Amino acid sequence: MRPRRQCDRLRRVSRQTIAYFSMEIAIGDEIPTFSGGLGVLAGDFLRAASDQGLPAVGVTLVYHQGFFRQEIDEAGRQVELPVRWEPSDHLERLDARVKVTVAGRTVVVGVWRRVLTGIGGSAVPVYFLDTRLPENDPIDRAISDRLYPGVPVERLSQEAVLGLAGPAMLREIGHGDIAAYHLNEGHASLVPVALLSEQLDGRVADASRGEVEAVRDRCVFTTHTPVPAGHDRFSPEVTAEVLGKELAGGLARIGCLDEGFLNMTILGMFFSGFINGVAQRHGEVSRAMFPQYRIEAITNGVHVPTWAAPSTARLFDRHLPGWHRENTMLRYAGGIPLEEIRATHAEAKQTLIDEVTGRWGVALDPEVLTIGVARRATPYKRNDLLLSRPDRLRALVDRVGPLQVVYSGKAHPLDEPGKALIERVNAAARALAGTVTVVYLENYGMDLAALLVAGVDIWLNNPVAPHEASGTSGMKAALNGVPSLSVLDGWWIEGHIEGITGWAIGSDLGAGADLPIGDPEVDGADGAELYRVLEQVVAPLFYGHPDEFAAVRRSAIALNGSFFTTQRMVAEYAARAYRRALHPDE
Ligand SMILES: *Cc1c(COP(=O)(O)O)cnc(C)c1O
Repeated sequence: MRPRRQCDRLRRVSRQTIAYFSMEIAIGDEIPTFSGGLGVLAGDFLRAASDQGLPAVGVTLVYHQGFFRQEIDEAGRQVELPVRWEPSDHLERLDARVKVTVAGRTVVVGVWRRVLTGIGGSAVPVYFLDTRLPENDPIDRAISDRLYPGVPVERLSQEAVLGLAGPAMLREIGHGDIAAYHLNEGHASLVPVALLSEQLDGRVADASRGEVEAVRDRCVFTTHTPVPAGHDRFSPEVTAEVLGKELAGGLARIGCLDEGFLNMTILGMFFSGFINGVAQRHGEVSRAMFPQYRIEAITNGVHVPTWAAPSTARLFDRHLPGWHRENTMLRYAGGIPLEEIRATHAEAKQTLIDEVTGRWGVALDPEVLTIGVARRATPYKRNDLLLSRPDRLRALVDRVGPLQVVYSGKAHPLDEPGKALIERVNAAARALAGTVTVVYLENYGMDLAALLVAGVDIWLNNPVAPHEASGTSGMKAALNGVPSLSVLDGWWIEGHIEGITGWAIGSDLGAGADLPIGDPEVDGADGAELYRVLEQVVAPLFYGHPDEFAAVRRSAIALNGSFFTTQRMVAEYAARAYRRALHPDE
């Protein structure tokens, strides 16, 4: 009798798919619907879910104009060009349609699909919602045109399409078995509102505690932003305009608004039974920011097969068979001979050098210590810190040997200080010509990231702490044997062992640190420390003790490459965040 019973029980709790909602999901550069780290993380999450056979679907929007294509002009300034791409070249158009009310108008939402197939053969569909349909008003056709528009009404309209139309679309397509809705950042926070509204036939204001609780049991919220200004917050006017007075009033009645404002982070947390930050320190910082919520931490990871360079993958195939399926195999990298570690990296470095010569016409020297700095250009990341004192850098090079720096990264089109930063980097590059070779690679994306994280010698990251929630590019570098030189913030607080996995710039200031951005004293002190570590520790090791440098490469793979993976991350979400939704009877 028992087996039969278990079958019944299984059938009863057969809701098991995780629906992962994210404003951006990065599949590859050919589908330019992402801007950076958030989208790449979402893509890595879904790639890992498909490897592991975790039933999951992704939901996002199809941006017809992409984010933007970046060029750098003669004066070293960012130029933003539209991206031309045809969704039909890469995605499958489905017939499903749902309707959603945005700003009092009925908007018809269509959908495209791309199926990710993991190494185990399990399929994870990703759905791209689309409002560019002939039946829509021209204003509404444009909702799915561009990622992160600056105008609040446009932005909330986009979030309404994702959150309010997304769950209905999944049902329409036939995904009736969603156990948990994972809201990846506040852009997706209208998902629980849709679930509640559905349950109550639109009368959200009538929701009882129990009905809100039932939604909470099915929602998981991940925050990615450790600074208050990073959270989407819409005025009462914009909220009423886009969502309608009735729904806005309903939300106010339930008590999930923030002094009358629609704060998407607070909304998401209010409706989620599990809330997390993306690194342990980020969890602490978020708890201090939102003391009324229970916020846990699940540290980010990266999808190892996606980010292992071809030479790295061959090294792993030789020494760590099965690493694709079981990323923890990387823990045994300690047994790989240093000579092979060195040769593997030299090959990735040559690939990068060939690409830089071929596409940018800049010659790099394979023997020279090469620093990679690739990240979104925005003031708190201080991409220009290394070049901020050219005199100091010249003196350093005189004393310890030559340096090359490879830069990449876009600034958001509305981020004027971020764009100024790119200009400063390029101006410094010209000023340093002849002393330090600096090249700025345009149009940072996944392919460039993959080349850079494997091909440079060290990965530099120097944000103003504690502004980096996690960071993931340093994890990609680590698994390719590229150590980080970084401020102790985000994931590096967990991954750093001085001289073993890389090097710290300055000390850990703790979760309470609140350093000003753009402060000459703070930047001066961190810059001085960066030059000191580079001059006294990193460069002498690179030029004087190549075996010891290769040993750091190897332990970066063994200790960090093996742990900061989306395989570990997805397992943690399954065990901690989705547990209640997947096993309601426990
Ligand atoms: C990994 C990645 C990022 C995120 O890197 P950070 O460390 O958070 O700066 C951003 N953009 C692209 C294209 C990436 O591949």
